[in-house]
Amino acid sequence: EFEHSEVLQSLPKQFFATLVKKVNQKVASGADVINLGQGNPDQPTPDNIVKAMQAAVAKPENHKYSPFTGLFSLKQAIANYYKREYQVDLDPKTEVAILGGSKTGLVELPLALLNPGDTLLLPNPGYPDYLSGVSLAKVKLGLVSLKEENNFLPDYKTIDTETKQKAKLLYLNYPNNPTGAIATPKFFEDTVKFAQDNQVGIVHDFAYGALGYQQKPVSFLQTPGAKDVGIEVYTLSKTYNMAGWRIVFALGNHDIIKAIELIQNHLFVSVFPAIQEAAITALNGSQESVAKLNDLYNNRRKAFEKAASQIGWKAYPAKGSFYSWMPVPKGYNSESFADLLLDKASVAVAPGAGFGKAGDRFVRIGLLTSSERLQEACQRIGKLHLFD
Ligand code: PLP
Repeated sequence: EFEHSEVLQSLPKQFFATLVKKVNQKVASGADVINLGQGNPDQPTPDNIVKAMQAAVAKPENHKYSPFTGLFSLKQAIANYYKREYQVDLDPKTEVAILGGSKTGLVELPLALLNPGDTLLLPNPGYPDYLSGVSLAKVKLGLVSLKEENNFLPDYKTIDTETKQKAKLLYLNYPNNPTGAIATPKFFEDTVKFAQDNQVGIVHDFAYGALGYQQKPVSFLQTPGAKDVGIEVYTLSKTYNMAGWRIVFALGNHDIIKAIELIQNHLFVSVFPAIQEAAITALNGSQESVAKLNDLYNNRRKAFEKAASQIGWKAYPAKGSFYSWMPVPKGYNSESFADLLLDKASVAVAPGAGFGKAGDRFVRIGLLTSSERLQEACQRIGKLHLFD
């Protein structure tokens, strides 16, 4: 028998594993469960990307070890993409790293840049996988509240002096999981100022960068001075429904990019080159599928928000990502409410507590099924008369 190391034991429990188990049990009992609890895109990867992958798999040179830091042609493609989409200049030699998943990069960053005892600031509520880096790098966790009255953006004025002094890195994520909020250019300007005033590095997770309902989401790198203080992490998982492919970029500050590539060389040999070639096709090819995906999620969001309001369940209107962040009725917390919905309506939702304490008054709805199923979920919930 092998005992787990202290590091392994210190890792946070996978909150959503319990939810998955409960949902599976309910499905096994024969119930028609509408699962709105997950964040897995339900649409296929566009055909041009799949075809490029098929051709790339057949090439013998793609069966060999490729450069540790990835294909330079892919670095050029993402630099061109940022120029075209965001008017951002990136040097593919020094300002781009290729990662095998956002999580890998987000966990590698504290390992590469922080010392035990330094503070990593994370949003609350926030994407739970950020916490893994805190345990692995043995750093301290500092929380920055995202409040509804502030459109789920941090208010830097309210962060206390001690936290600011100890903080070395701050993670942000807009369009936001779980709240559906987006950032404004002004907020990112304040962020650069906060970083400069307090010597804090910024890591902006732009996983939902292509998914904005009324407006195109802003990239952090569009902000003057952004590259002096931080990086952006950009995954292809959501833009092109490539969550299983594991292909992601870190972009921006050259010192941070160098540190990521150095640590990555010790942990990982580059992504399968055929996937990297297919990613070039994704970035250089027609972006029509992305516009269609945006329309699809927007239609689902509208259908869901309308059906929810008809049963008296008022949504914070999502502005991007593919989630709705919904309040929990009086008398429940996020887990007891999610349990009730699964039990009595066969609707699975993600309890907000899984995103941190500040999420406990909410549940997250994934808009990853048809509008009809989203409407049916609301009708089933309506029969419980929780919002009358
Ligand atoms: N960041 C956020 C905020 C996410 O919600 C997700 C996926 O759900 C990811 C990153 C994961 O991205 P990747 O597939 O690149 O690991």
